Amino acid sequence: MKRGIVFSIQRFSTEDGPGIRTTVFMKGCPLRCIWCQNPEGLNPRPELVWYDVRCIGVRACIKACKVGALRLDEDGLHIDRSRCTACGACVKACPTGALEIIGTEYDVKSLVDEVLRDMVFYKTSRGGVTFSGGEPMLQSSFLAEVLPVLKDHGVHVALDTSGFAPWREFEKILGWIDLVLYDLKLMDVAKHIEFTGVDPTLIWENAVNLAKRGVRMWIRTPIIPGITDSEENVRAITRFIIDNLPTVERFELLAFNNLCISKYKRLGMKFLLEKARLMKREEMENLVRVAREEGFGNVMWSGMVERDVR
Ligand code: SF4
Ligand code: SF4
Repeated sequence: MKRGIVFSIQRFSTEDGPGIRTTVFMKGCPLRCIWCQNPEGLNPRPELVWYDVRCIGVRACIKACKVGALRLDEDGLHIDRSRCTACGACVKACPTGALEIIGTEYDVKSLVDEVLRDMVFYKTSRGGVTFSGGEPMLQSSFLAEVLPVLKDHGVHVALDTSGFAPWREFEKILGWIDLVLYDLKLMDVAKHIEFTGVDPTLIWENAVNLAKRGVRMWIRTPIIPGITDSEENVRAITRFIIDNLPTVERFELLAFNNLCISKYKRLGMKFLLEKARLMKREEMENLVRVAREEGFGNVMWSGMVERDVR
């Protein structure tokens, strides 16, 4: 039986589809969006993180590591990720819980059991389970075993995807998906490549194929100041929806936030948008107006804006 790698399971989520949901964040993503809020979801394998505020410097982790992957100096703990096998020995040795392995393996039964714990909330709120990431399509073979079991229990299943996967991977799971939350980020090819690392053609083709198959979709666009927030970009995405995606029910504009900075630090990664400003409420409202003016009615925005949290 297949196993999947999950980096977080968020219960009582209300932002990843209808009703109260459990969102399962699958590890691994082929994109490298400069604004990514979940850097712990990029690497497909489990990885070690260090919480500086919990560390008391007793060096128990360094003694526990058999491959010499750890070094502590005045700048903090350095993890040599080319050596670290994520064995977890240092995590066990640390007396203050300053180390953690991100990424847990689940078999089908253990993941299904975990998400079915909140079945009563799914039923009363018309919610369900959303598979997100990272990019859940990287683990489509595992999902192809999990989803039929959830459908047998009558669970509403949503897929939150960047759309960047061979169409054959979608074919494996489409029969069990009730709703796809689909990212369209930038309609300018060169900018898409610059800011996400991949050409968007496959993403656009898959979106069209999903619509042709009659799959219900919500389109989501992260609104990043100076990158995706132009009226031109939002107009172009709206036009693409109207011209090609008749099964889209909703268009969501998600305002950028920088709450992920500490996650990048823990992973030893640099967040290039550390100094980026937040969007303003009136800018988000203007982009909603732009999309409606272009001809798509059900548009909304959410997220953090300057001087207020929505
Ligand atoms: S997880 Fe294992 S290999 Fe990695 S630093 Fe800790 S003890 Fe060493
Ligand atoms: S597609 Fe999502 S998870 Fe992947 S890099 Fe972009 S924002 Fe991060």
